[in-house]
Amino acid sequence: GAGNADAASSRILVFVRLRPMSRKEKEAGSRSCVKIVNKKDVYLTEFASETDYLRLKRVRGRHFCFDASFPDTTTQAEVYSTTTSDLVEGVLQGRNGTVFCYGATGAGKTYTMLGTMESPGVMVLAIKDLFSKVRQRSHDGSHSIQLSYLEVYNETVRDLLSPGRPLLLREDKQGTVAAGLTHYRAYSTDEVMKLLQQGNKNRTTEPTRVNETSSRSHAILQAIVEYRSMDGGGSIVTRVGKLSLIDLAGSERAVATDQRTQRSIEGANINRSLLALSSCINALVEGKKHIPYRNSKLTQLLKDSLGGSCNTAMIANISPSNISFGETQNTLHWADRAKEI
Ligand code: ADP
Ligand code: MG
Repeated sequence: GAGNADAASSRILVFVRLRPMSRKEKEAGSRSCVKIVNKKDVYLTEFASETDYLRLKRVRGRHFCFDASFPDTTTQAEVYSTTTSDLVEGVLQGRNGTVFCYGATGAGKTYTMLGTMESPGVMVLAIKDLFSKVRQRSHDGSHSIQLSYLEVYNETVRDLLSPGRPLLLREDKQGTVAAGLTHYRAYSTDEVMKLLQQGNKNRTTEPTRVNETSSRSHAILQAIVEYRSMDGGGSIVTRVGKLSLIDLAGSERAVATDQRTQRSIEGANINRSLLALSSCINALVEGKKHIPYRNSKLTQLLKDSLGGSCNTAMIANISPSNISFGETQNTLHWADRAKEI
């Protein structure tokens, strides 16, 4: 599992989650172009016409295989236990863990990360698990857990738990930190859910769609777990682990322009942080010495939480509808590449 203790390994575990067909997609007469088999294999089908239902004809298929692939019937708890619970265990041992959701807008990233009051997502389940594990271990030392929730939007960092001025990044002994970011202690799942829902309301919205979170906003929940105890000789032992759970911006723009020339990337004003993340992952895939973390706010913040001696999991979210075929294909290609780390 993800809790592989080998400190030198920097493999990213890559998962795919298919969401159910939405009512809107059904009403548009769309057809499912994704099939998941054996909890691993993803079959993507391309149809000859993506608009005319009656003339839809299968023209080509592609097969992908991931560490686990979740069909649309998968529960939030299953997604949590397969992708993140080992990372939470690692964080308690002092090993940083990072999970991010990648995919086009509408593919299910926020549902996976935050979820709803009735079906809480990975962020809530992870914090709940962290609290219960710490409680179980309270006899062998003391733990402190601090939560923060921030947004990177248009290369500006904002505190989602205490909105105000943009925050500056600086380096300190715990890595890159956002100066002045609030750190909360929360104790119950309900409290965490409320905190995060409130935080999500503070995410930047598009001026034209005030109730909708901007597809270019990245949200990062971090839990810093500090452990202190006394060793046999009476000196204090401390251990710090950081869990980062990230609801990334929609991948549609980055992907649409990634393959073009440098010029159109600039012209399209796409998401710098998302592109920088892709570059860092590419550099890690290629085993490069220099990883370009400094190219964006997101990658600066994740410098000590990606590659190296960290546990990383990526959940690629996809829609089943043939209307989203192009985006799904791009997401699966991206995920397939990340697998090679
Ligand atoms: P994103 O954050 O990637 O833009 P959302 O998480 O907001 O996408 O999902 C889009 C819609 O689909 C939302 O209404 C969400 O509740 C629904 N949805 C996404 N994933 C699932 C799922 N696994 N089960 C049920 N509904 C889902
Ligand atoms: Mg979202």
